[in-house]
Amino acid sequence: MNDQEKPKLNIVFVGHVDHGKSTLIGRILFDTNSLPEQKISEVKTICEQQGRPFEFAFLMDHMVEEREQNITIDTAQIFFKTKSRDYVIIDAPGHVEFTKNMITGASQAEAAILIVDANEGVQEQTKRHAKFLSLLGLNQVIVVLNKMDQIKYKEERFKEVEKNLQDFLGKIDISPSFIIPISAFEGDNVTKLSDKMPWYQGKTIIDALDTFKQTKGTAEQSLRFPVQDLYKVGDKRIIVGQVASGTIRKGDEVVFSPKNTQSKIKTIEKLDQQLEEAVTGENIGLTLEDPLFIDRGDIASLANDLPKTTTKIKGNIFWMSKKPLSLNDSLTLQCATQETGITIKKITNRIDSSTLEIVADESNELKITEIATVTIQTDNEIVIDNFNEVPELGRFTLIRDGAVVAGGIIIKE
Ligand code: GDP
Repeated sequence: MNDQEKPKLNIVFVGHVDHGKSTLIGRILFDTNSLPEQKISEVKTICEQQGRPFEFAFLMDHMVEEREQNITIDTAQIFFKTKSRDYVIIDAPGHVEFTKNMITGASQAEAAILIVDANEGVQEQTKRHAKFLSLLGLNQVIVVLNKMDQIKYKEERFKEVEKNLQDFLGKIDISPSFIIPISAFEGDNVTKLSDKMPWYQGKTIIDALDTFKQTKGTAEQSLRFPVQDLYKVGDKRIIVGQVASGTIRKGDEVVFSPKNTQSKIKTIEKLDQQLEEAVTGENIGLTLEDPLFIDRGDIASLANDLPKTTTKIKGNIFWMSKKPLSLNDSLTLQCATQETGITIKKITNRIDSSTLEIVADESNELKITEIATVTIQTDNEIVIDNFNEVPELGRFTLIRDGAVVAGGIIIKE
C-alpha cells in the first residue's frame, strides 16, 4: 500500500470559542513534525515584525487564511502522522455544508476532540457542539480540559469540570473514551506526558487517538452485501452487487435478510476471474450452493453476524428541501439497494445546523438545513445496522417526488 491508499482517520475538533482549538491543532501539528518548516519561520518573522510572541493559534489562523484563498480543494485538509497512522483534520461544525456532508456520508469524521477551557468550564457552545457530535452518531470522543497551566495544573479543578461534563454528556448519550488534562500552549499531555500533573495516570492525546478504530473501508468489518441485480447465464444464477462492508469468502455460510434464507457461497466472480474472497468496495457476482429465491435489495451477511430486520427506525436526519417535512408525511427511503415507502411518526431534537441552536425539543415539522431525530415507520421490512457499527447499512436517504430531500443515520432506539 502506498501512502495515498493508506487509510486515514478523520477527526474533527470542536469546542467553545477561545477554549483553544487552533492552539491545540497547531501544537499537534508542531509536535508531530507535520508543519512545513518554512511556514513556521514565515509566521515567526511576522510575529517578530509585529512585536508579538509566536503563537500556535496565530500560525493556524494564518494557514486557514491561506487555505481560504486557495482554490484547490486538496489543501482544505490538514494532515498529521503518529507512530501508527495518518490523520486528517476535517472542517469544523457550525457550517451547514459540514453537517450535510457528515449526515449524507460525503465526508465522515470518525473521531472528535471536544476542547473545554479548564478555567471557564462547560459553556453554551460546549453544550451545542457536544449535542451535535451526539446527533452525528460519533462515539469515539476525546474530551480535553485545556489551559491547565492557567489553573496551576490543579487536580481539584480538573475533577470538578470533569464531573460537570460527565453529568451533561451522560444526558445526551455521549460517553467520552478519554478525558485528558492538557495545556495546548505548553504542550502538556498532547504528544508527551507532562511532569507537571503527576496525578494524571492516563494517555496523551496522541496515544488516545491511536486507540480508536477505523470505522470505514476496512475488510475486518461485518460483512454486508446488498444485492443489486440477478442474472441468469444458462443454468447459472448470478447475484450481482458491491461488497458494502467486510470480506466475503468462497465457502462462507451466508444469510439473506429479510427473507432469512441461507446458503453457501459456491463461487465469487469478478469480470472473468474467479476469486477466493472479495472485500469492501469490490463489484462481484456470486453463485450459491442452493437455488434460493433472491431479490434486489436483499442483504447477505455471515450467519453469525446479522444486521437487524425491522419496520421501525430511529434516525438523525438533515433536511435539504425548501418544502418542510411535516409529521406523518409519506416518503421513500433508500438504504444501500433497498427501497421502501415510509411515514414520519415523530420529530424531536430539532436543531438549526448553522447556529447549532435548538429550535424545538419536539416538533411537527423540519425546515431546510435543520437536523432532527425522527422515528420512521417503514411499509416493508428493512435491513439495517446502527450507523456506529456498520456505516454503510446505517445510512439512508429520503426521497420525495423523485428528489433527495434528506440524508440520515440510524441510531439506537
Ligand atoms: P479557539 O477559538 O478555540 O481556536 O482558541 P485559540 O486556539 O485561538 O485560543 C484562544 C486563546 O487562548 C489564545 O490566546 C491562546 O493563546 C490561548 N490558549 C490556548 N490554549 C492555551 C493553553 O493551553 N494555555 C494558555 N495559557 N492559553 C491558551
